Amino acid sequence: MQKSWIGNIPNTHLRDYQRKKVYEAEADCSFWESPKTLLEHSFREVINQIAEWGKIQVPKIITEGHELVYATPTEIVIPYPNTKNRPTVCHEMAHVINYNTLNADHHGKYFCGTYLLVVKNFISANAHLELVKAFEKYKVDYLTSNSINDILILSNKIID
Ligand SMILES: [Zn+2]
Repeated sequence: MQKSWIGNIPNTHLRDYQRKKVYEAEADCSFWESPKTLLEHSFREVINQIAEWGKIQVPKIITEGHELVYATPTEIVIPYPNTKNRPTVCHEMAHVINYNTLNADHHGKYFCGTYLLVVKNFISANAHLELVKAFEKYKVDYLTSNSINDILILSNKIID
């Protein structure tokens, strides 16, 4: 079977069944249209803030030597200056948070619930609403909790 993921991630036996739908939903959101590149210090600050909020270690930030944007439980790989923007950081940090739980599910409902809350807290309430509407339109499954603690409990967060 051909390997369809990159990096050392958990639950690779789970099929990433709604990745395409999540990307389609993002393409419908205005906050994903030509997002601004963050200055280096804000880029790192947003990552630190999301890590603290999501109760995870700050991931290692890798900006060189890779071609794709991806995340693992301990790293985010953001190889191009034009991907150093808030929506990309929010999406990848939602993966890092989700990959630190037993219910790590790539672009599944646990990831999507986490991602929605990251967007709500680190972009805006409007962006969150837009993403919810887009998830509905493309029939993306997602958790609806409004509390990161509840999401982490539902996701079976591994307590370090
Ligand atoms: Zn993703």
